[in-house]
Amino acid sequence: MVSASQYVAKVLEKLKEKNACESEFHQAATEILESLELVFEKHPEFIESNLLERFVEPERVIMFRVPWFDDKGNVQVNRGFRVQFNSAIGPYKGGLRFHPSVNLGIIKFLGFEQILKNSLTGLSIGGGKGGSDFDPKGKSDNEVMRFCQSFMTELQKYIGADVDVPAGDIGVGGREIGYLYGQYKRLTNNYSGVLTGKGLAYGGSLARKEATGYGLVYFVEAMLKAEKKSFAGKTVVISGSGNVAIYAHEKATQLGAKVVAMSDSNGFIYDPQGIDLDTIKQLKEVERKRISEYMLTHPHATYTEGCFGIWNIKCDIALPSATQNEIDEQSAQTLVQNGCIAVGEGANMPTTLEGTNVFLKNGVLFAPGKAANAGGVATSALEMSQNSQRMAWTFEEVDAKLKNIMENIFAQADSAAKEYGHAKNYVIGANIAGFLKVADAMMAQGIV
Ligand code: NDP
Repeated sequence: MVSASQYVAKVLEKLKEKNACESEFHQAATEILESLELVFEKHPEFIESNLLERFVEPERVIMFRVPWFDDKGNVQVNRGFRVQFNSAIGPYKGGLRFHPSVNLGIIKFLGFEQILKNSLTGLSIGGGKGGSDFDPKGKSDNEVMRFCQSFMTELQKYIGADVDVPAGDIGVGGREIGYLYGQYKRLTNNYSGVLTGKGLAYGGSLARKEATGYGLVYFVEAMLKAEKKSFAGKTVVISGSGNVAIYAHEKATQLGAKVVAMSDSNGFIYDPQGIDLDTIKQLKEVERKRISEYMLTHPHATYTEGCFGIWNIKCDIALPSATQNEIDEQSAQTLVQNGCIAVGEGANMPTTLEGTNVFLKNGVLFAPGKAANAGGVATSALEMSQNSQRMAWTFEEVDAKLKNIMENIFAQADSAAKEYGHAKNYVIGANIAGFLKVADAMMAQGIV
């Protein structure tokens, strides 16, 4: 029989050949598969049943046309996606991303990561992801609504509370979920928990909005605690100023840290006194404006065009929470030189493979996204539980469960890393811990 490393290399090579031009999917698969070599050494039965080749192939890929009318009466056409990647441990679950950069490769990388992330939560949810190359920025509410209605008209054929439960991601927040849910209900006459991230008036969960950002900070706190360190008194840089970034700021500040920089896709602000979160919430959540407008009310701060420069700011803890590949090798080196002790990925795959290696080689505590940002999907699963029970838990109840889940995820990643001889490497630990549960379920369910 082939060795574990030969087997993994062969599957990876075939994956790249079959999915040419999907660079983000290749990147995610390379990181995950290489750390799974250790698992295949211990489990030759996985190789015998060709588990890995089945694992990297989505169960179903749906790609569809989304036509809609803009405010001038012109017909616009976007492309919609839903990748139902793996349902071994539960119904597909994962967000929808609306951003002009969206393509099949991006949705597949996100869906692939989602399998392991969902497994790590300890809840029964499989992996999926979807979205569109539609850009909500600059569109009127009516345009966003017409787009969402057209998107859901097709998507509703493939989802369901026990089948596939989408949620938000970049460009999909409470407004978009509301329009999507309204159209789903209208077409199916079915009031069920088919989407999460819903408004509180119609089945949403308290603390869902805060969950990914809070969860990220809970994970990093657990990681710091293992080194007898904490957020108190630390300087923090957070990229992005969306849902994840805002609530990571809120929790890190509650724990005694000072957040000095945040960004959007145009540039970043640096406020040495600590960024005023109320201003950011007003600009981003209410007015949907650019982060540069922070300067109008905080003239002592500075604004710089471009995204990458944010990593030149000296900090103890970096929380990249905007998008994929925002920290490359050079940015990682700068962070290390500036004394950064911990990096927690709020976004999915914000660090390149080369950047990750810089952190690991230099002893920076590194929390990979699939573990550190799992609080959002975990709380989405708690929303599903509340919907099934027709119950609503208090903010404190949900937040306590979230914290517990994040601490458990850290414990799993930590113990798998130790067991497989790579203590403190939470990339390997999270990949292995997440994979083993899915692998066991796939083995038990036969060749399907
Ligand atoms: P939002 O749309 O709320 O915010 C995204 C933020 O990142 C905005 O500040 C946006 O700037 C910036 N951004 C988006 N794309 C780019 C880009 N290509 N270059 C530079 N900046 C960019 O999204 P979320 O906060 O929900 O998501 C952020 C990250 O967290 C994503 O990677 C997502 O997959 C991940 N994530 C989100 C979860 C959730 O529950 N929301 C759960 C787990 C992971 P601008 O406003 O200018 O577009």
